Parts: sequence; C-alpha cells; structure tokens
Amino acid sequence: MRYKHVCTDCGRRYKYLGNLNYHRKYCGKKSFHCQYCRKQFTSKFAMRRHLSGCQKIDG
Ligand SMILES: [Zn+2]
Ligand SMILES: [Zn+2]
Repeated sequence: MRYKHVCTDCGRRYKYLGNLNYHRKYCGKKSFHCQYCRKQFTSKFAMRRHLSGCQKIDG
C-alpha cells in the first residue's frame, strides 16, 4: 500500500492529506522534551532516539 502523504518530521505516512495536516498540528511543534536533560525535539521519533543514549549516561 502506498501512502503518498508523508510527514517530513517523523516519517509517518497518510492516505489522506487531511489526516496528515491534522497530525502536523502537533508533530511540527517542539512539544517533546527529554526528561533527563530537558532537550527539546520536534518529533517523538527524534526524542526516543535521543533517549536511548541519554538514559545510558544517566544510569
Ligand atoms: Zn510527524
Ligand atoms: Zn536527554
């Protein structure tokens, strides 16, 4: 299945442009932050990738 509407921040794909636009309302904002170092991220995907490294330093 091909979903042509792709979010440039997290790579999520949507069948309908309306669904992507709705997703972008919260994905495009820096609404995610690391609970350890307070660094902010524009996407959950980027934050989770950072967390795996940040937690090791903390623990
Ligand atoms: Zn996204
Ligand atoms: Zn961190």
